[in-house]
Amino acid sequence: MELPAQPVSFAIAMIDADVRCMIMRNADDARPTDETLLGWFLHERDVACPRCGYNIRNLTHAFCPECREELALTVRTRGLRLGWFLLALAPLAYAGIIAPIMLADLIYETRVLDRIVTWPWWAAAGVGFACGATSLALLRRREHFLRRTVPLQRRLAMASWFALALLFAVLLALTV
Ligand SMILES: [Zn+2]
Repeated sequence: MELPAQPVSFAIAMIDADVRCMIMRNADDARPTDETLLGWFLHERDVACPRCGYNIRNLTHAFCPECREELALTVRTRGLRLGWFLLALAPLAYAGIIAPIMLADLIYETRVLDRIVTWPWWAAAGVGFACGATSLALLRRREHFLRRTVPLQRRLAMASWFALALLFAVLLALTV
C-alpha cells in the first residue's frame, strides 16, 4: 500500500482499512452481521464504553480495548418513562414483601404464644400475597402497562396506592 503524504490521513486510512476489514468479512452475505453494524456505527463517532467510559470511536472488534467488555449494538426507546410503572409496582411489591413476614408472625403468635388472632389479620396476609403475585405479573408483563397512555398509567399508579391505603384503613378499622 502506498503511504499517504500526511501521517494523520494515514492513520485515518488505517482506521478505514480496519473498518473495511470488518465489513469485508461479511461481504458475501446480504445482511451485515451485528459486529459489522457495530463497526459501522462507531466509525468516526465518539461513544463512551458503557462500562469504563473509554472512547470506543473507530472500534475494530466487538469488545472494549480498555476494559475488554464485550459490546453489542442494540435498539432502545428514546426516553422511555418508567416512573408511573415503578410507582404502580411499589405498593404491590411492598405488600408482597410484608405478607410472608406477617404470616410468619401470625403463625408464631397462634402456635407459640397461644394467642388468638382475629380473622382480618389472616385476610390481610392473604391480600398481601395476592398483591405480591400481582406485582410479579405486572413486572413480567410490563410492556402491557407501558403501552398505555401516560394519563392512564398515572391513574393506574394512583389506584395501586389507593388500594394499599384502603387495605390499611380497613385492617385498622377491623382490628382496633
Ligand atoms: Zn470499556
